[in-house]
Amino acid sequence: MKRLVLLGGGHAHVYVLDALAHARLPDTEVTLISPYPRQIYSGMLPGWIAGHYTLADTAIALAPLAERAGVRFKQARGVGLDLDARRVRCDDGSEIPFTWLSIDTGPTTASARIAGSTDHGIPVRPIEDFVTRIDALIAAASADPACSAAIIGSGAAGFELALALRARLPTLALTLIGSTALPLDGLPGRLQRQARRLLEARHIGWVGRHRAQSIDTDGVWLDDGQHVCASHVLQVTGAAAPDWPAQSGLATDASGFIRVGPTLQSVSHPVVFAAGDVAAYADPRPKSGVFAVRAGPPLAENLRRAIAGEALLPWQAQRRALYLISTGDRRALAAWGPLSIEGAWVWRWKDRIDRAFMARFSQHGM
Ligand SMILES: Cc1cc2nc3c(=O)[nH]c(=O)nc-3n(C[C@H](O)[C@H](O)[C@H](O)COP(=O)(O)OP(=O)(O)OC[C@H]3O[C@@H](n4cnc5c(N)ncnc54)[C@H](O)[C@@H]3O)c2cc1C
Repeated sequence: MKRLVLLGGGHAHVYVLDALAHARLPDTEVTLISPYPRQIYSGMLPGWIAGHYTLADTAIALAPLAERAGVRFKQARGVGLDLDARRVRCDDGSEIPFTWLSIDTGPTTASARIAGSTDHGIPVRPIEDFVTRIDALIAAASADPACSAAIIGSGAAGFELALALRARLPTLALTLIGSTALPLDGLPGRLQRQARRLLEARHIGWVGRHRAQSIDTDGVWLDDGQHVCASHVLQVTGAAAPDWPAQSGLATDASGFIRVGPTLQSVSHPVVFAAGDVAAYADPRPKSGVFAVRAGPPLAENLRRAIAGEALLPWQAQRRALYLISTGDRRALAAWGPLSIEGAWVWRWKDRIDRAFMARFSQHGM
């Protein structure tokens, strides 16, 4: 009997589960290991905060999806690998043996260089903890007009979360902090300037060209000694690698992400596959849900081929991703390479894409 372990219920693995529901693997026991019974879809998280979706709308129930695929569901967090004995070590002390291992555990929040972040920050990942803390922030702000918030990180996710919080809490004192001159770094300049105007129109403070140095109970200290007052500090500082892949002996890039070749196999341990943000692809791409989703079908196909002893197929991600950035008011910005556009119809387009993604995996939603 062969054993395939799927570690993490991320975007690529929900596709693998869906593929297994349509065609099971002969003589193979498959186990999904995930710390939570559901996968909250980050693309709809700002919409949940803004009040456009319920949390259930944004969650893929992993256990029923696994059951449909004939996959055993184990609720645990992977904390290490014994690559010689081919075992995944879990946080409950158990060890799960594998013949083949596929890793799609996503990133952690990059916050190592911000002092006090562990005690006083609210990192966006794990998203399960984040939603609990957002609920607490909404309750605190509703009860106490002196409540205030700052968001560190002005990429697409930080910007979306700022506008979503504004939509939910119209009078909250709110500041967005970024290290670049304008929010949405890397996206077209026209969109960045529009994002800046939107912040102003929604009374969201903008502190650009500064790095957060530390967080305390009163807010955020910046690299030039300025202090931004905030009772709640959200960290949306980008994707960092978890420690355990490198510590387990998997080849990683300089940042600790698992290096994979074009077949999505680890370059050091070919029985291990990785996809999504935790992987460093041979032809690198930005950390983005779009590329994690796109890796799903080739990952499913190559796992099937590996187990059947067939030749694997190379995969290369598309060059560009479409960015759809909601602005909290059922409107959205879109960017495709140098092109950008904005409008209510862009949000309806994003809403249709997100709901279609969820519908595919949520026949037994929770
Ligand atoms: C607010 C926000 C909005 C975003 N919006 C968009 C968007 O609109 N479009 C877009 O392309 N990208 C978006 N992103 C980025 C996107 O979330 C990530 O790029 C994407 O989630 C990466 O997918 P993944 O499958 O690699 O990991 P994830 O989606 O993070 O999934 C990883 C899974 O593994 C589980 N896991 C974690 N650690 C372990 C472990 N040790 N053992 C077992 N399981 C584990 C997690 O619980 C989770 O279920 C957004 C990010 C944020 C924060």
